[in-house]
Amino acid sequence: MNKFVLVTGGAGYIGSHTVIALQQQGYTPVIADDFRNANQIVLEGLRSILGNEPLLHRIDICEDQALTRLFDQYQFEGVIHFAAYKAVGESVEKPLDYYQNNLVGLINVLRHLSTHHVKNFVFSSSCTVYGEPKGEKEVSETTPKQLPESPYGYTKWMGEQIIADFHRSTPQHKLMNLRYFNPVGAHPSARIGEFPIGKPNNLLPFVTQTAIGKYPHLTIFGADYPTRDGSCIRDYIHVQDLAEAHVAALNFLINQEDGLLEAVNIGTGRGTSVLEIVAAFERVTGHSLPYIIGPRRQGDVIEIYANATKGEQLLGWKSRLNIEDALKDAWAWEQYLATL
Ligand code: UDP
Repeated sequence: MNKFVLVTGGAGYIGSHTVIALQQQGYTPVIADDFRNANQIVLEGLRSILGNEPLLHRIDICEDQALTRLFDQYQFEGVIHFAAYKAVGESVEKPLDYYQNNLVGLINVLRHLSTHHVKNFVFSSSCTVYGEPKGEKEVSETTPKQLPESPYGYTKWMGEQIIADFHRSTPQHKLMNLRYFNPVGAHPSARIGEFPIGKPNNLLPFVTQTAIGKYPHLTIFGADYPTRDGSCIRDYIHVQDLAEAHVAALNFLINQEDGLLEAVNIGTGRGTSVLEIVAAFERVTGHSLPYIIGPRRQGDVIEIYANATKGEQLLGWKSRLNIEDALKDAWAWEQYLATL
């Protein structure tokens, strides 16, 4: 019997990698994606890696009727909810779009869990809920949350609050917030990866697009921070590891008798600075990466990385790949895109 799992935003960056990990572990992923932020190239890559046509519904999950039809059509074992806008800077310019899309989508999906008796739910949350860590830079799930800096951050913070209230009102559901650190890399086949529309906001796509010649140089946003080399420090997690964390989370939820709500950090436990990323990229690819040091970017967290022990203890999951693997795979993906 098919074990259907709804993957909202399943044609996106993390969603597409998770679709593959789900199928590899015996689930039948059902993608709901309206392609406003996804690309046909990723869909073709998915087909080629999966070896079959994925179950795909081109719907906007903010449209209640479309979601009702989907939940009527399948008896889902669980839902992994990715579909959301994710650009911090854009969220400052278009806050209403972010609140509308990210919160209405989440509320709709939660409603359908209730009405269609689907117990298991995994939410794409973010380490942005920790803000700038006060004192210790390694954050665990018990580190107090702080108010975010951007509307995007608020949608994750409020998303967790909505889920907490939903849990209180309907405690039979099994709910998990995965707090991602910085997802990077691509599938080792180089057939799917991150596909930023327009100028990339995140570091890694900017690195690979600069190296391929789309931009004359990378600008490092500040090298005068109180860190080991002056640039900001993040915990970069390979998207393959991240995808597997979702399947581990779903397996865990399915095996629980009682309702619950948990938050789990998904990171490597190691911090890497922006300058270290540049050096590692040049070392791994043999390609030089021109860069300049620019001013600080407003609202940037200085240093944060995960305490990743809960993921290991609760889910039996931990990252296997390192930043070199991620840079190599991201570069192969960028080179593949250049051939199209
Ligand atoms: N960054 C940078 N230049 C860029 C893009 C990002 O120096 O063109 C830095 C940014 O200041 C931060 C790190 O790279 O220290 C990661 O940024 P990203 O936007 O990818 O993730 P986030 O800040 O949301 O963790």
